[in-house]
Amino acid sequence: MGIFNDPVVATTLAIIGWAVFWHHWHGLGITLGYHRLLTHKSLVVPKWLEYYICSGAYFALMGSPIVWVGVHRQHHQKSDQPGDPHSPRDGFAHALYKWMTYTDKVQTDEELRRQAADLLDDPLYKHLGSTHTGYHAHLCLALCVVFRIVLFFAFGWACVVGNLIATFTIFWSTQFVNAFCHEPNIGYRTYRTPEDSRNVWWVGLLALGEGWHNNHHAVPKSARHGLQWWEFDFTWMTIVLFERMGLAKRIVRPSKELLEKKRIRVLDGAQEKVANAVEAAREAAGAAGVAAREAAEIATNAAREAGQVARDAAETVIKAPSPEGV
Ligand SMILES: [Zn+2]
Ligand SMILES: [Zn+2]
Repeated sequence: MGIFNDPVVATTLAIIGWAVFWHHWHGLGITLGYHRLLTHKSLVVPKWLEYYICSGAYFALMGSPIVWVGVHRQHHQKSDQPGDPHSPRDGFAHALYKWMTYTDKVQTDEELRRQAADLLDDPLYKHLGSTHTGYHAHLCLALCVVFRIVLFFAFGWACVVGNLIATFTIFWSTQFVNAFCHEPNIGYRTYRTPEDSRNVWWVGLLALGEGWHNNHHAVPKSARHGLQWWEFDFTWMTIVLFERMGLAKRIVRPSKELLEKKRIRVLDGAQEKVANAVEAAREAAGAAGVAAREAAEIATNAAREAGQVARDAAETVIKAPSPEGV
């Protein structure tokens, strides 16, 4: 095909190809590595594979795995409550990016180390930083630059340009989960959870399955986030592939009973009328109960007062001097 011999077309296609590849490589580093493997322990893979997967997140400017895990576990414990590192209730821009500049204000280093205690002794992760000080961020930035210099000498500049595009897209996809997937008016909710988590299809596509965030909050340990046939979860598909290759074990799948218990019921017209009538009757009964209790209280008080008046009158009569004494 003549068009592919055009150097501009060929270079553009090479950059797009690299960008798609790196988006998935860095993306899986975050979704499968930092999130489902390290934070939630939704599956187990051999250590060499865990390091390889997690390197994708580290080289996408995600910083130390210990810090990432500590912050994300705190998000689950305090979702949309005071202490949540990135809730949109504190402002959309805060949830999207500002939170990264003051994580040390919402989580002390002691809290962080407590949250990620299981990773502190890992021979690699402990050297990448375990506090909110600038050390882990500066080290990550420096190693990210080195990584791209290596890419340039190994595969050329089209590879590096594709990688930079992918770093941008995957970095922001992750922030979109924090911001859009906790915004009350976006997407939908399938399960009853105590925070504002939402399922947002386009974040699901961009962030390789992490946009099914309401599903995730309903069953955080589940390795699978996309639970309906239309909820495309690239990370889950990769986990299934690893399982078939004998590389992934102890994969946590959510039980049907648990999901059914948490499911928000969608009612049809007739069911909704019945449910509304039952609710109204319950309120009326409650109001009638209150009124009856108040009436009984008034009657008791009145009786008590009447009794007192009668006792006072009787006492007056008894104490009154007899006519003979005059
Ligand atoms: Zn969340
Ligand atoms: Zn999570």
